[in-house]
Amino acid sequence: MAFIKINRQNFFHNLNQFALKCGSKDKLAIVLKDNAYGHGLELIAQLSAEFGLTQAVVRHYKEALQIKPYFKGILILGDRACVDTHCSFALNSLDDILKAQKGSNVELKVDTGMHRNGIAINELEHALEQIEAKGLKLKGVLTHNRSADELSSELFWQNKQFEEVKRRVQAYGYTDIRFHSFNSASALRLPCEQEDLIRLGIGAYGYNELPKIYNHIELKPVLSLWAKRVAKRQLKKGERVGYGGQFIAPNEMTVSTYDLGYGDGWMRSNSMNPFMTAEGLPMLGRVSMDYIVLESEKEEVCIVNNALEAGKQVKTISYEIVTLLNPHIEKVID
Ligand SMILES: *Cc1c(COP(=O)(O)O)cnc(C)c1O
Repeated sequence: MAFIKINRQNFFHNLNQFALKCGSKDKLAIVLKDNAYGHGLELIAQLSAEFGLTQAVVRHYKEALQIKPYFKGILILGDRACVDTHCSFALNSLDDILKAQKGSNVELKVDTGMHRNGIAINELEHALEQIEAKGLKLKGVLTHNRSADELSSELFWQNKQFEEVKRRVQAYGYTDIRFHSFNSASALRLPCEQEDLIRLGIGAYGYNELPKIYNHIELKPVLSLWAKRVAKRQLKKGERVGYGGQFIAPNEMTVSTYDLGYGDGWMRSNSMNPFMTAEGLPMLGRVSMDYIVLESEKEEVCIVNNALEAGKQVKTISYEIVTLLNPHIEKVID
């Protein structure tokens, strides 16, 4: 089976960079949705706790239950709010308020421009009334930035909107709740000492998707993807490899089959423009469900050690490369 190495030192390095920039570990909430971006939910929860983080963010309540022992507080982004003193639930719409269980801890998500979810700003006071009427405990107000990683003034405009939201929520009477809008890109780009909470995802895993001028914080990839050899053979000139025989040996060569395929979440992509592994080996022919073929005799090969670079090859972002990886792939801490 292919396997993933998780580099503890690099993970701690990244967390430390953000803790230094934001002035405290306590402000960092590690985002663990989608199997901790493919890195392993429990494993990353455990390492985060070991580092000293106390807050986490997931998508579903089920994930929160798995990692509860590691954190003081868990924010759930997309599930029905229920009573659990350990957790708070993002309310993404007025409908979510109606569905929430009485007595739950909630955080109201406000749409400040992304137009994906969250209540509209002109529904703010109405939403706060509903939250009270329903007997929910408001613990925070949040928003999500749509262009934190793009060079434009949009981030500043959205922050201004959020300032307005904050002012109105405080004027309504909620003065001791937390307000948060920062993801990794916002934290890399702007001062963050004043923030109540940073929802730290991709940056913790070692990627900075911002334009080069925001590269002043060095991040190190946490994950590397490896495959093991399952067979080795000699090809004669002209012999073909894999489905459709797409790869034709240009000369006599030694190739091996490795146990990674699209069943493991590795993209089948385009065999006419083959993916180059971290060691510079092109994938020969089509990617199968469980196998790839490389010109190598090594027992183990490193396929990816930097998802940002890997993503560039197939015109996607680091997020997608790592998140697609099948949760069943074995993980080892390095
Ligand atoms: C995924 C997510 C984040 C983390 O974003 P990164 O870009 O990975 O840091 C923060 N907030 C919300 C609401 C999210 O859904």
